[in-house]
Amino acid sequence: MDKGGESVDIRSASKHYDAVRALDDVTLNVAPREFLSLLGPSGSGKTTLLGILGGFIQPSAGSIRFGERDVTFLPPHKRDVGVVFQNYALFPHMSVGENVAFPLRARRLAKAHWPEKVRGALAMVGLEGYEGRGISQLSGGQRQRVALARAMIFEPRLILMDEPLSALDKQLREAMQIELRELHRRIGATIIYVTHDQREALTMSDRVAILRDGRLVQVDQPERLHDRPVDSFVAGFIGEASLLPVRQLDSASVALGPIILRTARAIPQSEALVLAVHSEKLLIEDDTTDVACNRITGKVSDIVYQGESLRVFLEIAGGARLSLRQPSHYAALQKIPPVGSDLTVTLHPEDTIVVPEAAGLSRSRPS
Ligand code: ADP
Ligand code: MG
Repeated sequence: MDKGGESVDIRSASKHYDAVRALDDVTLNVAPREFLSLLGPSGSGKTTLLGILGGFIQPSAGSIRFGERDVTFLPPHKRDVGVVFQNYALFPHMSVGENVAFPLRARRLAKAHWPEKVRGALAMVGLEGYEGRGISQLSGGQRQRVALARAMIFEPRLILMDEPLSALDKQLREAMQIELRELHRRIGATIIYVTHDQREALTMSDRVAILRDGRLVQVDQPERLHDRPVDSFVAGFIGEASLLPVRQLDSASVALGPIILRTARAIPQSEALVLAVHSEKLLIEDDTTDVACNRITGKVSDIVYQGESLRVFLEIAGGARLSLRQPSHYAALQKIPPVGSDLTVTLHPEDTIVVPEAAGLSRSRPS
């Protein structure tokens, strides 16, 4: 079923609704077979960009190419893309098989070939033998699989998905994320995937494009977004970071005192700088701690049990707050002192991240 992926070339795409800039001059290239996520908070323009790619929304400016084809003014049914939405958009009065076969009708494939195609598409999503079922007889996860099968039945080289898992509960959602990854590898199509959930984006994507207020902020691999964010917006959005304003550029002194940074070059040129401290990068000091590490002492203000790990909040000089994560196994738990105690944590210079403050973000955001 592998027909390869389509490349997608978005050039200076904008969409304005009167004064609202839903999408503002976005340029982005997606490689064949890439899994690219569009990630951003609600209202950042994700659905608008996906709609422009699918042909449901006409851009105010800019152009879209799929491979060599300029599709900017092509209607949706001539773009050869599979589309999956959050709310499934299945036809409730049709059976599973009829729903999945629906795109074949529009494509005028001879009816004799339908059952075989439907069987193949349902097998891809683990729903063999479900052809005759009614949509109302299915669970949420099964409905989403039917929507996937319908999007894949004509073997599109590009699949667009808009928050397809957000209606599912956490466990099912996480299982489906892994399934989608595997499915992507098998079919080899290019996938552009909209989500507001950063963990979901990191889990599934080759690259993630971060949108804020209709603009592209950073496009990168998950590890790079996490460890090399371009500004404090990305640093605050990806992972679990405490953001501390940096007082002096030369020594990178923050509320907690001078900090040894990774390299001098790590300090970007900017009026206002922020130190982003990821909660998993802070370790409780012990005999094995590297002497080169930064040491930060504060008062434990809260301990939040979250199952596989705990989040420990630390109040440091100047009223700033850091949080660290400890795994919830016996040895790690022994290291956490009770609320109200002093605690020294360490931050390796290689784990320090200093970024320019993003415009329009408060300098002292709560962690
Ligand atoms: P997201 O999918 O990231 O939540 P959208 O792309 O749906 O964001 O919307 C981006 C911005 O454009 C929002 O501010 C939204 O209110 C606005 N917007 C979207 N569609 C319309 C429309 N048809 N008319 C006016 N404003 C719109
Ligand atoms: Mg949306």
